[in-house]
Formats: sequence, structure tokens, C-alpha cells
Amino acid sequence: MYSKIVILTFPPEVAEKALVCQLVKQFDLLFNILRAEISSRKQGFMVMEIAAASRPDFNKGIQFLKQQGVQVSTPEQQIYKDEQVCTHCGACTAICPTGALYIRRPSMEVVFDKEKCSVCELCIVTCPTRAMGLFTKDPEPVV
Ligand code: SF4
Ligand code: SF4
Repeated sequence: MYSKIVILTFPPEVAEKALVCQLVKQFDLLFNILRAEISSRKQGFMVMEIAAASRPDFNKGIQFLKQQGVQVSTPEQQIYKDEQVCTHCGACTAICPTGALYIRRPSMEVVFDKEKCSVCELCIVTCPTRAMGLFTKDPEPVV
């Protein structure tokens, strides 16, 4: 089984199509929606974990979404932790819902596991030193 958290941005012209359901019907993928929003300009934004029997099966589903005009990126392309600024105070570990930010013992260092991040952005508003932030550059292709 292969799974990965991805961030999907749906342009207005496809935001109301049931494209995500096609991942199940056509590609036999499983998904768990972690966050979903629609903007005032009718652009859709969704963070979801997609699971497939294999990496090639996962890639087929992602390629399908991209062919439909959906922009696909990953949390590591969206959220960063600035190690020069982090004081390892631990405040973010208390609010991170997925365990992506955790305290490594016995060093008590706060570690950011990008693979587990759901891009909820709670750490960004919680961090007293602004060590957590959002990238603003265009994401690299996922597959
Ligand atoms: S809240 Fe900010 S400074 Fe504190 S451990 Fe987390 S990232 Fe580092
Ligand atoms: S955005 Fe921050 S708080 Fe939210 S899941 Fe990612 S690391 Fe955790």
C-alpha cells in the first residue's frame, strides 16, 4: 500500500465536478479528506490523503486529476520550518493535529515530519517566533 498527503487546487471551471469520486471508481484509490475549502472566486482547495495499492496506481490517479486541470502539490512544498528561528519551545507540538510536529527525546528537539503535515496552518499562527511558514513559490510537479 502506498499513501501520500496531497494538496489539490481546483479552478472554478472544475470545482463542482465530482473528480475526487472518480479516483475511487476509475483508479481504485482510497482517500481521506483532511481539509476542504472553496474561495469566493469558486476555486476549490482540498488537502487529502490518497492511498493506492502501489505507487504506479497512485500516479495514474494524480495524472488523471492534472489532466482535468487540477493543480496538485504536497505539504513539503507548502509548509516550512525555519531551523534558524525555531527555539524548540514545543508550543506547535501541542496543536499539530497530525503529529507532524513532535518532540524528539531525549534531546527535546522539535522535529517537523513533512510527510504527516495536513497544511492546517495552525502552527503558523501559534509559533511565537514565526519559524513556521508557507512557501509562496509555485509547487513542483508531484509525479
Ligand atoms: S512553536 Fe515555533 S519556535 Fe516553538 S518549537 Fe514550534 S516551530 Fe519552534
Ligand atoms: S500545518 Fe503545522 S500544525 Fe498543521 S499539520 Fe502541518 S505541521 Fe501540523
